[in-house]
Amino acid sequence: MRTIPHWIDGQAHPGTSTRAGDVTDPATGEVTGRVAFAGAEDVEAAVASARKAAVDWAATSVSARTQVVFRFRELLNERKEELARIITSEHGKVHSDALGEVARGQEVVEFACGIPHLLKGGNSPQVSTGVDVHSVRQPLGVVGIISPFNFPAMVPMWFFPIAIAAGNAVVLKPSEKDPSASIWLAELWAEAGLPAGVFTVLQGDKVAVDGLLDHPDVASISFVGSTPIAEYVYERASRAGKRVQALGGAKNHMVVLPDADLDLAADAAVSAGYGSAGERCMAISVVVAVGDTGDALVEKIAERTGTLRVGDGERGTDMGPLVTLAHRDKVASYVDAGESEGASLIVDGRQVDADGASDGFWLGPTLFDHVTPEMSVYTDEIFGPVLSVVRADTYQEALDLVNANRYGNGVAIFTSNGGAARAFETDVQVGMIGVNVPIPVPMAYYSFGGWKASLFGDTHAHGTEGVHFFTRGKVVTTRWPDPATAGGLELAFPKNH
Ligand code: NAD
Repeated sequence: MRTIPHWIDGQAHPGTSTRAGDVTDPATGEVTGRVAFAGAEDVEAAVASARKAAVDWAATSVSARTQVVFRFRELLNERKEELARIITSEHGKVHSDALGEVARGQEVVEFACGIPHLLKGGNSPQVSTGVDVHSVRQPLGVVGIISPFNFPAMVPMWFFPIAIAAGNAVVLKPSEKDPSASIWLAELWAEAGLPAGVFTVLQGDKVAVDGLLDHPDVASISFVGSTPIAEYVYERASRAGKRVQALGGAKNHMVVLPDADLDLAADAAVSAGYGSAGERCMAISVVVAVGDTGDALVEKIAERTGTLRVGDGERGTDMGPLVTLAHRDKVASYVDAGESEGASLIVDGRQVDADGASDGFWLGPTLFDHVTPEMSVYTDEIFGPVLSVVRADTYQEALDLVNANRYGNGVAIFTSNGGAARAFETDVQVGMIGVNVPIPVPMAYYSFGGWKASLFGDTHAHGTEGVHFFTRGKVVTTRWPDPATAGGLELAFPKNH
């Protein structure tokens, strides 16, 4: 049986704990590996190695650091197919989708190649007579990243390229469900010339997470996962005095106004609702049909779901399996609940005929109509291929529905009315907004993050907010006395003159 190790001190490391977890291929249902689960000693070894490496790495010139990041980008670009196949084999998403994930992560690596520019401080000469001020940003030291199963490469890459380029050492705790991508990335860093200890992978579960949250030598935590765990991580790590950004779950709405192009809207709802089997934090899970659009829109969405091919990632299918059997069964239980709570089940994915092994964790596209805000298919984040249509009489009713939701990650509006789109952009209480764009994931040079229960902390991922998160500012006020005029006592509070 293949074992998936930690990566400590620049090499694969089996760890000292005997605890481990199964890793499965979701398309076959087979257990394909065992991943090491860190114990307290492994956390200690990982952080100690990172702490040592962080000192020299922070002192390495910004040009030398950037060259390593640039080499990492080149290797990643050449070998992205390998990484995409690893993602498919443990997550289940189809190959084209896995390649898309790698591409979006690579954008952040490319952004981080511009770190010399991003780390430039300000300079104000002569703020007072003979006094100059400049600002600098310095790395934090050891930074922790805890990532979810649904993007085993992209989500860690939202953070570590910038953290490393800025001079920090990273300890990544990936999801135990698909841990191999992290080891592949660690090997790539080593090949790119990153010194041992600057990128560490600590595999495991709550023991590894809690170890990082509490460790006094870990300066910050970047967490992405479900809302209850994000809240827990935010509170515990903040209490331990760390800088924390904890991105949580989502329930993303797509509002379709009566003047929208309904064919485009239906295409978008199907692509964004069922892509990656709905296991995306930016997936659309609720379509809000405004005015009299409902019947036609539901018909168009249903027609399109009939054309989707469900199967394993190797056969050119549109949608893969869910990540684990337990998750597949949980999502299916929401379909049961939606039916018993009185929603109209238009397309039922529970009995899908998938193009793949019979023991794969399959669930086909599922569509509910006439969903109301009290039903569990509406209130809960399902994280599967289940799309709910809610009817709203007016734009205001649709806006109020979105704003009353506890989550605020992504939202989309489909309309041909620029004024309505503009008002929506101003009034909606959500972090990332698409206008006729169903999955508005910001480019690497903007920052990614939701509002409300979708993000705890005040700094979003990547972009300039990411640079800010992984550095600490200093402002230096300098006077070089002119030997001809300097001297004399002045005990009053310093003022400018
Ligand atoms: P999860 O919360 O179960 O796990 C996330 C991480 O936390 C994993 O590394 C896991 O090992 C760890 N963890 C799990 N339980 C823990 C516990 N009790 N104590 C400490 N650590 C624990 O999330 P998941 O199922 O891997 O991922 C799906 C979730 O992530 C969804 O809710 C999705 O919306 C969210 N997500 C959000 C974003 C975003 O940008 N907001 C992006 C991707 C995924």
